[in-house]
Amino acid sequence: MLTRIDCAHLLTADEHQPYVPAAAVLVRGDAIAWAGPGAQCPATREQADQWLDFSDKIIIPGLVNTHGHSSLNCMRGASDAGDFTQWAGELKAYTSDLTPEALHFGNLLSVMDMLAGGTTCICDCTRYGIGGLSRAAELFGMRSLAGGLANSPELRTDGQGNWDDIVAWCDAADICPDRSTLVNVYIGAHSPYNCTGELLKTAHAQARQRGLLFVIHAAETKAEESTILQRYGMRPIPWLHSLGVLDENTLLVHSVWLNEEEIALISHCGCKVAHCPASNMKLGSGVAPIKKMVRSGITVGLGTDSMLSNNSLDLFSEMKIASLVDRITYGPDCLDNRQLFHMATIEGARALRMDRWIGSICAGKKADLAVLNGYHPLGYDEQRLLSDLVFYMNRDSVYATMVNGTLVYRDGRFLLQDGEAVREQAKRYFEESEKYRKLLHGEAREKGDRK
Ligand SMILES: [Zn+2]
Repeated sequence: MLTRIDCAHLLTADEHQPYVPAAAVLVRGDAIAWAGPGAQCPATREQADQWLDFSDKIIIPGLVNTHGHSSLNCMRGASDAGDFTQWAGELKAYTSDLTPEALHFGNLLSVMDMLAGGTTCICDCTRYGIGGLSRAAELFGMRSLAGGLANSPELRTDGQGNWDDIVAWCDAADICPDRSTLVNVYIGAHSPYNCTGELLKTAHAQARQRGLLFVIHAAETKAEESTILQRYGMRPIPWLHSLGVLDENTLLVHSVWLNEEEIALISHCGCKVAHCPASNMKLGSGVAPIKKMVRSGITVGLGTDSMLSNNSLDLFSEMKIASLVDRITYGPDCLDNRQLFHMATIEGARALRMDRWIGSICAGKKADLAVLNGYHPLGYDEQRLLSDLVFYMNRDSVYATMVNGTLVYRDGRFLLQDGEAVREQAKRYFEESEKYRKLLHGEAREKGDRK
């Protein structure tokens, strides 16, 4: 099927044709067949099988979220306390023992939240219920790269080992080596402090053997730095390097506490970075040296992190926050609006090693698009549009979302599933569940940590 989409402004994140006013995009099946000025479009509205008239709207590539924990969505606001350590301690009661239903509703609600906010791909992390996000994303038509974060029970007393579950899920998954499919898989490890060196090496080797991305939280907090220094006599990045787990297929999440040598090492190894500025600030973790990383040639994408540490999945806000924290840190020599827009699109796709298929709008890529409402009293040109994307717009600006050539969200409604029904079912589940009634009414806090 050939679909012609007309729009007022097209921002492609593709260097050959970054901005086109009065544009058209042709979509054949799941892929973009052509994009450019509407007047030069090789297919008229009549020749196309379907015409989508977005001629008063803006089209950008679907946003790419490089880090989230979707299954925890329902516990939003369970703790907004202090720094990372306080926050993580307070959350144990809420996150260590979630029921399969709570994980399932968390995944569904996160997917809905992201699609309604123009995000078409998520790199999602979980310790339990591995594969749940992929199923939820598939139901609503969203693209995903999902996997489990292995952890060592001897180092993480509130959890259980999950390595066997991760391997079993990978064995069962239908893995597409070039990541062109809607459902994609990686292998991850939680962090240097929650995993033994042996587990990190095993997880990385399995990822490499299967041609998968290796994902790990790294250098997130000062506390992590002192723990690793104390245990191994090395800082987190040199320690990971000594284990041989840093390479071009490694995605480092957060990467806040880095010195110049470590930035050079990450760049040399070809690792990618998921930058989560709102989460880093909410948990008081620190300011990641993003500009230094970008200037060292490191690919940096944006991530929201979880509903517990952000508490939003809005990548428009993330662009703005990334810019603000960069400006307050580095002054006028800061990242420009185009760089921030690219971190939410093509650079995010590069960080996930999916840029062959997503992240920009050009012929041959998958048709993952976000359609936006926008108004500027002076009208839009490229500069004003980039400025509005970073500083003025937010998830409410999204009118429609297309993934893999299918319109999955439009004007407040999900087109493949009944979103309202999911919200109602989730609400009813938590109302009727004795366990959560107690937990959410604060009894768990009185009792202290639960296993
Ligand atoms: Zn995380």
